[in-house]
Amino acid sequence: MFIELTDHLRCPGDHEEAYLVLLPDSVVQRSVQSGELGCPVCHRTLYVRDGILDTGDGPSPDDAEPSLDGGSVAALTGLGGPGGYLVLVGPIGGRWREVEDVLNGVSMVAVNGPASLKDARGLSVLRSARLPLKSSSMRGVVLSGRYGSDAAWVREAARVLLPGLRVVGEGAEPAPDVVDVVASAGGWWVATRRPGTVA
Ligand SMILES: [Zn+2]
Repeated sequence: MFIELTDHLRCPGDHEEAYLVLLPDSVVQRSVQSGELGCPVCHRTLYVRDGILDTGDGPSPDDAEPSLDGGSVAALTGLGGPGGYLVLVGPIGGRWREVEDVLNGVSMVAVNGPASLKDARGLSVLRSARLPLKSSSMRGVVLSGRYGSDAAWVREAARVLLPGLRVVGEGAEPAPDVVDVVASAGGWWVATRRPGTVA
């Protein structure tokens, strides 16, 4: 896990948004290989092992083949210019290098990706029942596979998104409660957060 991502993490516990305090055991080339993250509110401890932050409550890994290549997904995010983070939820995490090739200089955060996914330069690997990320902190979120038609994950994606930026999802279009769908084609949709709804 990229050590600078720590600033954008939050406790996944059901309480007011709280930052996490990192106690690293091993950091190699700015990537935390092992360590603990503590929540000052609920005193929960999360662990980074083998470079992966696993909150322990996530769904089983999804090894389905993504229905779109990484380059096409990168184009749908509409991102231009380096910096910040793009969240890849579900099987599309396995295509992170293709996405990164197009969005050069944007750090990738794969959440609940394929079981084989390992920590790498440019990629942080997270596993969790929700996004353990701060509200309004990410430049884009891609919800692939079953996550694209899951209302709870659409809400989480909208929450962590910076204002005006996009959620890209696979499957049925989401209800217009937290996001506005701006385009839809080939089983994928692109949406922006509805102002004043979440976060
Ligand atoms: Zn907590």
